[in-house]
Amino acid sequence: MPPLSDPKGQPDLKGKFDQATRDAIHARLRFYRDLGVGEFYRREVDPLLWAQPQPEQIPIQSPVAPQAAPEPPAAAAASLFPQVNAPYDQETAIAPRKPFPSAPPQAPPVPPEEHFAALKLIREEIGDCTRCALAKGRNKLVFGDGDPNAKLMFVGEGPGADEDAQGLPFVGRGGQLLNNMIAAMGLKREQVYIANVVKCRPPNNRTPEPEEAHTCSPFLFKQIDVVRPQVIVALGQTAVTYLTGEKRPLSGWRGRVHPLRGTKLIVTYHPAFLLRDPNQKKHAWADLQIAMRELGLEPSARK
Ligand code: URA
Repeated sequence: MPPLSDPKGQPDLKGKFDQATRDAIHARLRFYRDLGVGEFYRREVDPLLWAQPQPEQIPIQSPVAPQAAPEPPAAAAASLFPQVNAPYDQETAIAPRKPFPSAPPQAPPVPPEEHFAALKLIREEIGDCTRCALAKGRNKLVFGDGDPNAKLMFVGEGPGADEDAQGLPFVGRGGQLLNNMIAAMGLKREQVYIANVVKCRPPNNRTPEPEEAHTCSPFLFKQIDVVRPQVIVALGQTAVTYLTGEKRPLSGWRGRVHPLRGTKLIVTYHPAFLLRDPNQKKHAWADLQIAMRELGLEPSARK
C-alpha cells in the first residue's frame, strides 16, 4: 500500500477530494501526529464509496437526523472529522518527524594502555567546534572526565554554568550529588568516566535540541567505544534517548539492564531532578545497586 504522504510528508490529496474533505482529513492527520503517530497508510478504495454512510455504521457524532436526505459524499466525510476550524493551507504545515539517525557502528577495541591517547585524539577531532549552534554561547567545551579505563561510565545531558566555566562535567550542585552517588557505590570519582550527550552548554540550561544532540552524540559514542566500560549509567531522559535512539518515558527504562554497544546500560534519574525531588533518591539508589550488581561491587549500606 502506498503511504498517504508525498516525500515531503504532505498528504497528497489534491485532485482527489474537495476542499472540505481535504481539510477534514488534514485535521485528523494532525491529531494523530500530535499523538506521536507519524506514518499513515491508506487502502486503495473508491473515495466516493468510502464517504458513503454504511448501513451498519454507528455515527461518531450525530448531527444528522434519521430522516435527513443523504449528505453529499464530501459533507458526509466532513461530519466524521468535526472541529475543522481553519483551512490547512492557512496553517504552517507540520514538519515530518525526523527519524533518529542511527548510532555509528561500534569502533574496534583499543588496547587499554592506548585509551588515554585515543580519547585525546577524539578531543582533537572535536577541536574548537562550531558544528552546531551551541558553540556560540559556550565558554569552555566539556569533553569528559575520569579514568579512560573505567568499568563504569556516567552519561549526562550537557554542561551547566559551572561545567561551562570549568570545562569539566558535573562539577556544580548536581555534580556534588553525583559524587555522593559514586561514593555510595564504594567508588571514587576518579575511578569512573563521565561525559555528556552535548559538550557545550545549552542556553539557560535548556534541553539540547535534537539537531544539537545528533551533531554531538557521535563523539560520545566514540568515547564509549574507547573506554568500553562494563556498565553505562544514563542520567535522565536526554541521556538515554540519545544513547539508545529511542524515546520512552524513564519508567520504561529503569529497573532493567539494556544491552548497548557491547556494554550494559542502566538508567536512572538525573541528579538535577533528584535535587528537586529528594524523595526519588531511594529509587535512584535501587538503580545504582543494579549497576553495582553488574560490576560485582559489594552492596553496601546506603550512605
Ligand atoms: N548536568 C549534566 O547533564 N551534565 C553536566 O555535566 C552537568 C550538569
